[in-house]
Amino acid sequence: MHYSHIINELAEDRERYFNAVSPPIVQTSNFVFNDFASLRAAFDDEMSTYLYSRGVNPTVDILRQKLAALDEAEDCLVLNSGASAIFCAVMSNVQAGDHIVSVHKPYTWAWKLFDNILPRYNVATTYVDGTMIENFEAALQPNTKVIYLESPNTLTFDLQDLEAVAQLAKSRGIVTVIDNSYCSPLFQKPHRFGIDLCLQSATKYIGGHSDTVAGVLTGSKAMIKQIFDREALNTGAFVSPFNGWLLLRGLRTLPVRLRHISESTQKVVAFLKNHPAIERVYFPLDPDFPQYELAKKQMTGACGLLTIALNVTRYEQIEQFAKNLKHFLLAVSWGGHESLIMPKCAGLRPDQFDPTDREHRLVRLYIGLEEVEYLMEDLGRALDKL
Ligand SMILES: *Cc1c(COP(=O)(O)O)cnc(C)c1O
Repeated sequence: MHYSHIINELAEDRERYFNAVSPPIVQTSNFVFNDFASLRAAFDDEMSTYLYSRGVNPTVDILRQKLAALDEAEDCLVLNSGASAIFCAVMSNVQAGDHIVSVHKPYTWAWKLFDNILPRYNVATTYVDGTMIENFEAALQPNTKVIYLESPNTLTFDLQDLEAVAQLAKSRGIVTVIDNSYCSPLFQKPHRFGIDLCLQSATKYIGGHSDTVAGVLTGSKAMIKQIFDREALNTGAFVSPFNGWLLLRGLRTLPVRLRHISESTQKVVAFLKNHPAIERVYFPLDPDFPQYELAKKQMTGACGLLTIALNVTRYEQIEQFAKNLKHFLLAVSWGGHESLIMPKCAGLRPDQFDPTDREHRLVRLYIGLEEVEYLMEDLGRALDKL
């Protein structure tokens, strides 16, 4: 199915809503039944009927069908954050006494789930450097139930070999979960490699305008149904009709936004690679990237995130660099229209800064929708001042 069909035509049933081009926001909490029998049927299977908008909602359903198709998955849930997608995907597949193998340094709210919540229910996690398949194999235990991936991650863009991990997991009956936020469904289709559950923060590229927080989770009908009936209904984790509608609107322009952003980002990478104030540029589709070949195999594009290691010795220099940038906002998140800067050392106190630790000198940049010359001029000016 072509993505143009999915984004523009699939699941648009306009005769049901006055032939309106843009679907309505069905802003209702509950739905009416004509008789006891149909109400009882809804209680029995809430996922296949409109009963109450904590479950399924017609506006959100349009989005679910499109996002499932984009991921080439049987089914999809749209949740009220990427963090809740992580929570639901993992919780649905573990019970007391189980073990998880996760890539090291996963997204903050993944490791907080593994380190702060799951140990209270006797579920332990082992972290591995996911760049080598042997590390997964060595970490598996008889009670390992989930392998948690994030490929690429959003700081140093480390990848995992998805096909190899999926094969290993399948041979041991282990469920694989991937955070695919960086690539979005346009640039990587993890289910093609055999990954079971694929999630992304829709706050980033699906929304695309820095005005909505949401998450997407896709997988087989059976796995998604289990999550719907248990974790998602119980935590009330579904996206609201209004935010679902905003995501539908964002989705319409996903391909053009990503094309512009990825072209700009490659130009910025080429520009920064030769700058004397920069020790190293991290970008997965740069031929010098250590896992470039794997990136080319698994991903059809790279997005607007890149990281630079600055040649500096003092914390204040990085602080000043961020201040000198006029068009990059100091803010978390990414995927919107606006360019952003997130220095790693912003999470440290000045006295904790160690210039011999390269990680402290990492600065993540997000390239937004501005014209690339406008951004490069700004970057050049701030780097020259270093
Ligand atoms: C932002 C982000 C999340 C979490 O998504 P929210 O929508 O903010 O809850 C998860 N993983 C990655 C890689 C992210 O960048």
